[in-house]
Amino acid sequence: MKEKKSICVFCGSSGRVDEAYRQAATQFGTLVGENGFDLVYGGGHVGLMGITADAALAAGASVLGVIPKFLQEYEVGHDGLNELIVTDNMHDRKRIMYERSDAFVILPGGLGTMDETFEVVTWTQLGLSAKPVVVANINGFWDPLIALVDHLVETGFARDENRSILQIADSVENVFPMIAAAPVSHGKVDSKWV
Ligand code: AMP
Repeated sequence: MKEKKSICVFCGSSGRVDEAYRQAATQFGTLVGENGFDLVYGGGHVGLMGITADAALAAGASVLGVIPKFLQEYEVGHDGLNELIVTDNMHDRKRIMYERSDAFVILPGGLGTMDETFEVVTWTQLGLSAKPVVVANINGFWDPLIALVDHLVETGFARDENRSILQIADSVENVFPMIAAAPVSHGKVDSKWV
């Protein structure tokens, strides 16, 4: 049986971003190791992804990367991980990242990060997942996303109870108590619009 819990991080593959976000990735990776978690991520050595993985490795975490064959070149597959799984496609990547994780943390990122985040959020909405999803809202980076979710609820396109699927941490340190508490709220598939 697996003893340590694994956190899956979704974050940007771009490194051309504000230094505050790069520092947040370093701090997050370090705290993953220091808090006794292992890390699951997209397997690249670029951007915040690479920074997070390197910091987690340096802090003693075991790190699993999951990368599709066709992205190995673009995202520079990390060759210093404890385990690297190369998949045939994006769907297998997301499935394996999901299966091998106990919780999800969203650091600043781009469209790919949003795709990965919403996949797991919608699985929770449908009652297919009960793993916590914590958004690290560094310097208010994700405020527009939070406002969009509020808009979906206010206009009746999402249920109020599903607003809380995304748990919001206002700093990297505050992510960890939220994972430990891990309250997950989700609707059941058959009662989605009752
Ligand atoms: P980005 O936030 O755009 O920098 O992308 C972050 C990570 O998400 C990268 O590893 C991308 O390969 C990955 N990604 C982008 N699009 C998708 C997708 N449709 N499904 C799964 N992962 C994706």
